[in-house]
Amino acid sequence: MPGFLDNEEIEIPCENCGRKSKKSIGWIKGHTEFSCACGTRIRLQASQFESEIAKVERSLGDLERSLKNFGK
Ligand SMILES: [Zn+2]
Repeated sequence: MPGFLDNEEIEIPCENCGRKSKKSIGWIKGHTEFSCACGTRIRLQASQFESEIAKVERSLGDLERSLKNFGK
């Protein structure tokens, strides 16, 4: 289901100022770096974000499965 998850937002924490910026998964997939308001550049390929995305994908997958089973 491409595009469905792209609207989900996850928080990108800045190591420098501690600010958390919300970005959609679609945005993150299209960018390799994020510039915080303080000027710090944060790489978006970090495994941290991939695990965040995997977590969202997993929970949505579970939901999808339970909805399909519900209809039977
Ligand atoms: Zn910052």
